[in-house]
Amino acid sequence: MTSEPLKFIADAMLGRLARWLRILGYDVSYESSISDNDLIAMAIRERRIILTMDRKLTERESARNFLLIKSPSYKEQLKQVITHYNIDYKTGIFTRCLVCNILLDHVEKEKIKDKVPSYVFSTQDEFDICPQCCRIYWSGTHRVKMLGMLDEIMK
Ligand SMILES: [Zn+2]
Repeated sequence: MTSEPLKFIADAMLGRLARWLRILGYDVSYESSISDNDLIAMAIRERRIILTMDRKLTERESARNFLLIKSPSYKEQLKQVITHYNIDYKTGIFTRCLVCNILLDHVEKEKIKDKVPSYVFSTQDEFDICPQCCRIYWSGTHRVKMLGMLDEIMK
């Protein structure tokens, strides 16, 4: 089965889950204050799956494509989403800006010399940049830790 990649919209309670799904490379809309009506409207308009802990919201007729999140723990939430949608959590990891929710571009090391700490510049070779906010991302020990945590969650 091939289809367009999954896109999500997370309710206001699920900020941490939204961030983690962005880490995995998924397009996740998240606003800390959004009305149920706006959330559902955006989900329909942009064909996003609603992630919510609010059963009432899922009972609305207009909310068609949703996953009711069960646990208050973000690790359990993440596990639920990964399991439910059979998500490959390694392929797209670290390809999206965690702030802007858009895909990163590769950037040549020489171009960002003045923009990262010198110890980072001297120890890393691969850098990505967000085309919107210009944040620079690189492989560091935190990425290894995150992957370790994901493996732990999914055991
Ligand atoms: Zn950005």
